Amino acid sequence: MSVSSIISLNVTSMAEYMDAIELAQEHFRSEMCSICEELRELTGGGCIHSPNGQPTDSPVWFRGHEKASYMLLPSAYRSEEIPPKDGWKFNGTHLNETTRDQAFRARTYHLMEKMPETSLEWEEVRQHFRSKTKALDWSESAYHALAFAMESLLDPDQKSIEVLKRRQSLSPLVWLLNPRALNVQVYLQMRNNTCYIRMAEPERKLRFALRQSFLQKRNFILPGMCHQPYSAGLLSLSVLNAQRMEYGSSYRQRLLNRELNPFYHLLLRYYADALPIEFGPAALPPMATLAPYHSRRIIAQRGVLSIYPNYAAPNTPDLKLPEKLRDPRALEHFNGAEKFLARIHIIDPERVSHQLRMTGINKTSLYPEAEIFAQDVEFVPP
Ligand SMILES: [Zn+2]
Repeated sequence: MSVSSIISLNVTSMAEYMDAIELAQEHFRSEMCSICEELRELTGGGCIHSPNGQPTDSPVWFRGHEKASYMLLPSAYRSEEIPPKDGWKFNGTHLNETTRDQAFRARTYHLMEKMPETSLEWEEVRQHFRSKTKALDWSESAYHALAFAMESLLDPDQKSIEVLKRRQSLSPLVWLLNPRALNVQVYLQMRNNTCYIRMAEPERKLRFALRQSFLQKRNFILPGMCHQPYSAGLLSLSVLNAQRMEYGSSYRQRLLNRELNPFYHLLLRYYADALPIEFGPAALPPMATLAPYHSRRIIAQRGVLSIYPNYAAPNTPDLKLPEKLRDPRALEHFNGAEKFLARIHIIDPERVSHQLRMTGINKTSLYPEAEIFAQDVEFVPP
């Protein structure tokens, strides 16, 4: 139920790191059995696991932190005030976001390798250039996440005081996420709280159609998800958004006709349109999404994202927001986080970073730019 029940492993070498990933995967597999069970009861869908039959491996995403105390919280939530819940659909988080978006776009249009098409895509691009967003980066590569966790030890800039400081205060950690299990949590949360349909659509006719279609005993998430190919069933908010644009003015009619997946529509409302929702123990967690490969950097990092909803401050006085070290909006503090998260502490970072370099990973692996490559050529192991 809390961060303490999340599986936590210590490693001192690359070999132990690989073993730890295997252990975490086993943990995710057994959690997946109970998740499927819950899903089947609710929707009649999902997959059937026989008592001795196991689900197949889920994809695992990785994220490295140089400090173990660093929370799984997106940058926009680290420094900004939580806007109050006041009935407006456009709140302070939107204002911050559009202000940043205007400045970023106006100054970087000419630098884009491929022009992003929507605000959501721009947000994904901004995330990869460290602008503040509601998204958090993950990697499909365990090696790259490890490199992020020990980035200061791989940094060729030996003279930088900042790099030296980071090396001295290093307590590296790699988070592991089962994106399927996280998205099922989002799905269950939406099914169990009809307020998400009501808040998404003020218009009665559409709301009625959504409620009728979404709440029937039917599975709208991932068909037989544990027995599908490895990457099947992962969601991409950007692609859903592009499809919505493609349908244009017929989109609403298609929803009314039940031609579209109501779950996808709700995802768009809460994660792309970012309708504010009150934060609380039963609030929607972030969703896991495949962002299109907009830039060389995203490709190199094997980048994928979790996107957070737009949380507004709750009216309940007993929920304190935010505490400095235990912000309840951090992913590891969500109810049921142990089902989709695991973590690996790197106990001997110097040794592991040395071994990681031997596998061919360096700073250019994270930032494939000529300037970084020039630095990597000069690298002397610390
Ligand atoms: Zn299953």
